Amino acid sequence: MIRKILYAALALFIAAAVVGYLNRESLIDASIRDRLQQKPDPAFLANDGHIRVLLCGTGSPEVSAAKAQACTLVSAGGHIFLFDVGDGAVRSLEQSHVPLNKLERVFITHFHSDHFNDLGTLINAGWIWGRTTPLEVEGPAGMRAIVAGFAQSYALDESYRSANMPHLAERREVAFGKPLEVAFAEGKRMARVYDEDGVTIDAVLVVHDPVKPALGYVLEYRGKKVFVSGDTEVSPLNMEAMRGADLAVHESYAAHMVRRAIPHMKRLGMDFEAEVATRTIPYHADNIALAKQAQSAGVKHLLLTHLIPYPDSFVVRRMYAEGMADHYKGQLTVGQDGMLIIL
Ligand SMILES: [Zn+2]
Ligand SMILES: [Zn+2]
Repeated sequence: MIRKILYAALALFIAAAVVGYLNRESLIDASIRDRLQQKPDPAFLANDGHIRVLLCGTGSPEVSAAKAQACTLVSAGGHIFLFDVGDGAVRSLEQSHVPLNKLERVFITHFHSDHFNDLGTLINAGWIWGRTTPLEVEGPAGMRAIVAGFAQSYALDESYRSANMPHLAERREVAFGKPLEVAFAEGKRMARVYDEDGVTIDAVLVVHDPVKPALGYVLEYRGKKVFVSGDTEVSPLNMEAMRGADLAVHESYAAHMVRRAIPHMKRLGMDFEAEVATRTIPYHADNIALAKQAQSAGVKHLLLTHLIPYPDSFVVRRMYAEGMADHYKGQLTVGQDGMLIIL
C-alpha cells in the first residue's frame, strides 16, 4: 500500500516536472511579472483612525547582521514618520514593505551614530527610486550640519546619476534632503514640531548626558498618545512626556545582566568591553527603574527597544525583562525587528 502511494507521488512529481519544463518560458515570465508587481504595503498610509508603530530597529550600538540599530516608524492619518534611522534601518523598512517614497519626515533623537547611520542611504535611495519632494529631516541643533555633510559625501553620486538620467537631474534637490532644527522656547522642555490632519508631534528634552540636547518625541492622534524615548536615563524630567501614554517605545538597558557580565569580561581579558559596559550604565534606562517610572506615569503598554545587551535567544529574552513585572502592571513587550503594533 505504502509502495503504491510512493509510486503515485513519484509519477505526479515527474508529471509536474515535465509540465513545468514544457511551460518554462511562461513560468519565468510570470515570476518576473510577480517580482515587478511587488508593491509596498498601503496599510502604512491608511487613514483609518489607527496609529501603526513598526519597530524597524531594536539593536544596540554594535553593528549586527541580526538586527538594525535604532529605528521606529509611526504612521497615522495617512502620514508616515520615522524616529531615528540607524545602521540596517533601510533594509529593515524594505523587509516590512514600507512605502519609503511616502515617508514624510524623519525625526532624529540625538547624534550618537547608531541613531542616524543609515540617513544617507535613506535620502539617496528615495531620490533614486522616485521621491518627488526632499525628505524632511528634523533633529536637535546640529541637524543642518549633518545633512550638509551627507550632501557633500553624495555630491559626486548625484552628478553621475543626473548626467545619465534626466528625470533625476530634474529633481536634484531631492538627493540631499531638507534639514529642520528643533528650537525650544526659553525654559521649556517641549516644542511642537508637527501639526497636520489631527496628528501632532512634540519634541521633548530627555536626559542622556553628555549628549545635549537629546530628544524624545510624543505623537498624538485621535486621543491616543505614543512616546518615543530616544536614548535617555530614567529621569523624573521625562514624566510629563510619558504620562498616560498608550504606548511608550522606550530604550532599555538590562543593567542586572551587564553588571553580571563585567567580571566575566575582566576574567576573559576583555578589558576594553568591560570599560565600555561600565561607562554606559549611567546614561541609559535601567529596566527596573523604567518599570517603576512607567507604572507611576500610567503607561498602558511599555515596548522595549534599543536593547542592551541584545537578547538573542529565548532564554536571554526571558532574563532580559526579569523583575520588571513586579513594578509595572501594564502590558510589557521586549521588542524585535519587524514587530508591528496597531493602536
Ligand atoms: Zn545615545
Ligand atoms: Zn543609542
